[in-house]
Amino acid sequence: MERIITVALVGNPNCGKTSLFNALTGLNQKVSNFPGTTVEKKIGEAKLSDTVKLQLIDLPGTYSLYPKSADELVTYEILRNKSETNYPDLVIFIADASNLKRNLLLYTQVSDLGVPAIIALNMMDVAERRGIAYDIHKLEQELGVRILPINARNKHGIDELKNELLTNLPEVHKEYFSLENVSKDLLNQLSKATDKRNAYAALQYAINAKDLLSEKSVRLKAIFDAHAFDVRRFLEEEVFARYHIIDTAVKAARLKTQDNLKKSLTRKVDAILTHRFYGIGIFLALMFLIFQAVFSWSTYPMDLVEMGFAALSTYVQNTLPAGVLNDLLVQGILAGLSGVIVFLPQIIVLFFFIAILEDIGYMARVGFIMDKVMRPFGMNGKSIVPLIGGMACAVPSIMASRSIENKRERLITILVIPLMSCSARLPVYTLLISLFIPDTAVFGPFNIHGLVLMFMYLVGFVAALLSAWIFKQFIKSNQQNYFLMELPGYKMPLASNILITLYEKAGAFVLGAGKIIIAVSVVLWVLASTGPKDKMDAVSLKYKNLMEQMNEAEQNEALIEGLSLQQNADFLEASYAGQFGKFIEPAILPLGFDWKIGISLLTSLAAREVFVGTMSTIYSVSGSDDDLDSIREAMLKEKNPVTNKPTYSLATVFSLLLFYAFALQCMSTVAIVKKETASAKWAIIQFVYLTVLAYGSSLIVYQVFG
Ligand code: GDP
Ligand code: MG
Repeated sequence: MERIITVALVGNPNCGKTSLFNALTGLNQKVSNFPGTTVEKKIGEAKLSDTVKLQLIDLPGTYSLYPKSADELVTYEILRNKSETNYPDLVIFIADASNLKRNLLLYTQVSDLGVPAIIALNMMDVAERRGIAYDIHKLEQELGVRILPINARNKHGIDELKNELLTNLPEVHKEYFSLENVSKDLLNQLSKATDKRNAYAALQYAINAKDLLSEKSVRLKAIFDAHAFDVRRFLEEEVFARYHIIDTAVKAARLKTQDNLKKSLTRKVDAILTHRFYGIGIFLALMFLIFQAVFSWSTYPMDLVEMGFAALSTYVQNTLPAGVLNDLLVQGILAGLSGVIVFLPQIIVLFFFIAILEDIGYMARVGFIMDKVMRPFGMNGKSIVPLIGGMACAVPSIMASRSIENKRERLITILVIPLMSCSARLPVYTLLISLFIPDTAVFGPFNIHGLVLMFMYLVGFVAALLSAWIFKQFIKSNQQNYFLMELPGYKMPLASNILITLYEKAGAFVLGAGKIIIAVSVVLWVLASTGPKDKMDAVSLKYKNLMEQMNEAEQNEALIEGLSLQQNADFLEASYAGQFGKFIEPAILPLGFDWKIGISLLTSLAAREVFVGTMSTIYSVSGSDDDLDSIREAMLKEKNPVTNKPTYSLATVFSLLLFYAFALQCMSTVAIVKKETASAKWAIIQFVYLTVLAYGSSLIVYQVFG
C-alpha cells in the first residue's frame, strides 16, 4: 500500500524554496496554475521509501500572512483552507539562517494557522560567512519545533530532511500568539466558529482596502466599530508580540563568534546613538553641523555660479545684436538656467553628508529614534532627514524621501517638505524683516532680526507638522508597517557609492527641475517684457519726449541712468505682468498687497528669491540682491495713493512674510513632486493646499492687525 504525504514549501521570497523543491524532486515536476489564478503552481513528486510518496508544492514567497499581492494571497488561501485539495499534511518552512528573525515572523503565523510544520534552516553557508551561528538544538527547544539545517544550493542536509519526513512527522502545531487575545466575543462575531483561520481571513479582509466596498467588508467594519476594535493597532501588537518570542529564542540560541564580538561593540555604540535623549541630541547636533555646512560650503560655489552666469549674460548681451533674441537668451533662458544651477552646490553638499551617513549605517538609527516623534503626524523616523533638508532646498529633500518605504508616509512627507523654510526664502525674509527691524537692533544678548528670522523657520516647521497631521486624516493606506528590529551593522563608507548617489541626485535635479524652471522663466520673461502695444508705446514715447526736452547740459550720466530705471519700472507696469498684478489686485488687497506686490507674486512663481529682483525693478533702484538698503528705502517711502498711508505697514509685512512662508512659489518643487509621485494629482493638490494656506493666513493676519 502506498502512502502520499503532501508537503508545502513556505517561506519568504528568495529563501531557497525553489532550490529545495528541485533538490527534493529532481525532474518529477508538473507546472500548472493555482485554481482561479494566473499564479504558477509547481507540484513535484519524490519517492521517500517503497511505500511512501512525497507530493511537494512550491508556494509563492510571502513576508507575512496578511498578503499584499495575488502571489502572496495564494499561499495564504491554501494554508487557511482545510478543504482545499492542496491542503498540506505538513509545511516545510524554509528560513534563511542569515536573516533569521525576519523569516521566523512568518513561521509563527503559519504555525498559528494550525498546520504542522518543521523548519528547514537554509543558507547556512551564507550565515557562516557572516559569522552567524546557532545552537540548533537550543533553537528547537526555544521555538518548540523541529529544525534541520540545510544548504539547498549544494544539497547538504537533503537526505536528513527526507529521513525526517519518513520517521518523525509532527502531528500538532505549536501556537505562538493566541488570536483569543483579540477578544473571544469579537472572534465569535467574526465567524460562527472560533476558528483562527477564519478570524485571520476576517482581519485580512478588513485591512485590504480593495475590499472595503464589498458587502462583507462593510459588515466587518460594523463589527469592528461595535467592538471599538482597531485593526492596525492589533496588527502592530501582534507583530510586536511575535518578535518578542522570536527575539528571545534567537538570542538564546545564538553562538558567540568573532562577528559576535563586533556585534557587541555595535550594540554599545547603538546604546548611545539610539538612546532616547543622547541619541536625539547627537542627531540634532549632527544635523546642525550639516546644515551649517550646506550653507557655508555652498556659498562660495554658489557665488561662482552666479558670477559665471553674470559674466556669460554680459558677454551674450554685448556680443549678440540688441533685440528680442538677445533679451530672451539673457533675461529668459540664462536667468532661468542660473536659477537652477545655483542650487546644485547645496544639493551636492546635502547629499554628500546624507550619503555618507546612510552608507555608514547611521541613517537606519535615525529612523529608529525619530520614529515615535513622527508617527502621530503620519510620517516616520525616516521623514526627519528630508524635512530638515527642506531647510536648505525642498527639491533634493523630496528626492531624499525615497528612502521611506511606506507610500503614505512618503507622500505626506513630500507634501509638507515645502513648508520648511528653504534658503530661497532667506533673501525675501531678510528684506522684509529689515523694513521694520534694523539689523543692529538687539534684545539683551539677542539680535532681534535673527530672532524674527528664527521665528519664521519655526512657523514653517510647525505648519509642516500640523499639515502632515491634516493630510494623515485624508490619505488612507492599507500598507502595513512592520517593525524592522534588526539594524544593519556599521561599515566604512564607500567612496564609489557616495559618488554615484551624488551623480544621480544632481542629474535628476538638473534634468527634472531644470526643464520646467527654464520653461517657466521664459514664459515669465515674455509676460514681464511684453504688453499691450498701446500701453508699451506710450511708455516709450514718454521717455523719448523727456530725453528730448532735456537740454544738453542736463544730460549727465546719473540722470540718464535714473531715467532708464524709471522707464524699466514703467515698462513693467505696462507689461502683461503688470496688467496681471492690477488684475489680481482686488483679490490680494484684503491681504494688504497692492498690484506691485501682485507682480512679484507672479514673477516669484518660478522661484521665491526673484521677489527681491522684481522689487528692485518696480521701485527702479539699481543694484543687486546684496544691495538691499536702497530697495528697502524705496519700499518704505511708498505710500498708498488713496489713504496716503505707507504701503508697507507692519501688518502688510507680516502678511507678506506668512505668504512667502507658506505659498508654493517654486516651480522646481512642483516639477519634482510630479516626478517623484508619478502623478500630476498630488502636485496639484499640494499647490492648491499651500496656496490656500498662504492666502488664508495672510488674510487673517492683515484683517486682524491691519
Ligand atoms: P525562492 O525564491 O525561495 O524560490 O528561492 P530560490 O530557490 O530561487 O533561491 C534564491 C537564490 O538563493 C538562488 O540564487 C539560489 O541559488 C540561492 N540559494 C538557495 N539556497 C541557498 C543556500 O543554501 N546557500 C546559498 N549560498 N545560496 C542559496
Ligand atoms: Mg521560487
